Amino acid sequence: MGFSQLVHRTLTEFAAISGVCSNPEAGLRILMYHAVGGEAYGDSFGHYSITPENFARHMDALCGIEGIKVVPLGQDVCTETQANVAISFDDGYLDNLRCAAPILVERGIPFTVFVSSQFVQDQRSGFLNPGELRELAQLPGVIIGAHGRTHVPLVRCDDLTLANELADSKRYLEDITGRAVSTMSYPYGAVDRRVRDAVSMAGYRIAACSHIGINQTGCDPLLLSRTTIFGQDSVNFLRRKLAGCWDWYGYFQRDLSAWRE
Ligand SMILES: [Zn+2]
Repeated sequence: MGFSQLVHRTLTEFAAISGVCSNPEAGLRILMYHAVGGEAYGDSFGHYSITPENFARHMDALCGIEGIKVVPLGQDVCTETQANVAISFDDGYLDNLRCAAPILVERGIPFTVFVSSQFVQDQRSGFLNPGELRELAQLPGVIIGAHGRTHVPLVRCDDLTLANELADSKRYLEDITGRAVSTMSYPYGAVDRRVRDAVSMAGYRIAACSHIGINQTGCDPLLLSRTTIFGQDSVNFLRRKLAGCWDWYGYFQRDLSAWRE
């Protein structure tokens, strides 16, 4: 464990002990997973891949926590009055279909998979190909969302490239799945006002960032907070994240300079 991780864990433990985060708050907490069993994109330290066994333990724990309801990432995300949790996966890994989906479907847990469409189109190794994406989309409780076309940070795109990234991925995923795609997540969590507004213009209704926090009544559905779950997170650690023990960290994740007018 590195020094910064040690500091984070110490502060989190302190928050838990002091009772700052002892109960799940009302609102929607969206969990962000990546690979389940396989290798995650650009993940040299292995933080973003969880074993199927640990993932199953997470889902069993989630189903067993009183007062928490697991919900699909629907249209009314910001009007929640109870403690709701939604499950999401970024990038579109094949193991989401082969390893995660059976665990989720067996437990009746709805989930959203955010897919970078070019990875599918290129039939890139480790990612869903068109047939597998169609298969995943047809499972009960599954929502397919976009994650850009090429997985570039959208804040670095010029206006035309940005519009194409958003429109092309949406259209391609709709063609493959035969369903409307109105949900997306920002690659690398990179978003500013221009990107957020372009996402709205492109016809998306829900967009998820990567900064930690809970989404409560009145939040912007195109700037939803998510709670990153790392492969090493134990069930106890998951419980603490669900209780909001890590939410203080979201303050440091927001690039406030990007929001200056
Ligand atoms: Zn990604």
